[in-house]
Amino acid sequence: MVTGASRGLGLQMVESLATGSFSPGKIIATARDPSRAQVNKPLKNVQSPSARSPELHDTLAQPLPTHQLYNLPYVVSQDSIEKAAKEVDTIVQGEGLNCLINNAGINVIADFETVTAEQMLENFHTNSVAPLMVTKALLPLLQRAATRGTGMGIHRAAVINITSLLGSIELYWGDRANTFKWYPYRTSKGPVWEPLQVDVAALNMLSRCMAVDLQDEGILCMALHPGWVRTDMGGPQAPLSTEESISSVLSVIGGLTEKDHGGFLHYTGEPLPW
Ligand code: NDP
Repeated sequence: MVTGASRGLGLQMVESLATGSFSPGKIIATARDPSRAQVNKPLKNVQSPSARSPELHDTLAQPLPTHQLYNLPYVVSQDSIEKAAKEVDTIVQGEGLNCLINNAGINVIADFETVTAEQMLENFHTNSVAPLMVTKALLPLLQRAATRGTGMGIHRAAVINITSLLGSIELYWGDRANTFKWYPYRTSKGPVWEPLQVDVAALNMLSRCMAVDLQDEGILCMALHPGWVRTDMGGPQAPLSTEESISSVLSVIGGLTEKDHGGFLHYTGEPLPW
């Protein structure tokens, strides 16, 4: 299940999963406004590997992927999260949910001079609080999937938080501290910077907190930076295309094991400093 699949990286994840050689069986793409989502058109046109090539399907012995576009109106609305969790339950049924990708996010740009409390809270709500609430609502389905198998990874259950290198405290210093002075976004992804007095846990720390609490359930939790990518958020000057980023992101996700539990990885698979 991928949140924020209407455009950008979320849309690319869904398209790549639907058309690539690895079929997860069921793909649940959520968009807050499916009528506007770009995902409607590509998904209708997407052909599963088996539709394109029955041989491939037979060889891989994979079931037909099912593409579901589910309306998760706002990841910041508890009602819509709970409604979505019920519908996801009816889609996955006894198998449970193997992989939740918390991808939906916003980038509120404001520097020290211009930032307001409302901007900070808006960015925290979408990027930090919502992934926690979405994961909590889907926990029974993740637990169900995690009852099968040993070790950790998407063969059991995993929560992937799409975070940002801009949230790394260690990397925001010296030469690197002259760019992207975005208080709301950097702090919503990275650990809270104490002087800001914001008592909401940020996404990177949240990933570690969930990793501590869900370890005994066998549910892998980690934070993943997708690279700087040409999307509405990343802008046209970003070096990576969505295809380049997501092909690597999906390969990293597919290879996650217990050694990655609680970690913060670059889209190349390299560990990043917190
Ligand atoms: P985009 O701005 O292109 O897409 C953002 C997605 O999040 C859209 O699908 C949007 O839906 C959805 N979304 C935003 N707010 C909400 C909400 N309240 N409820 C439901 N859905 C919401 O961003 P990217 O694809 O570039 O980014 C995806 C993730 O990757 C984000 O978490 C971002 O922080 C992270 N990231 C991106 C980088 C980049 O270079 N692009 C770099 C590092 C991290 P809608 O269409 O309805 O607005």
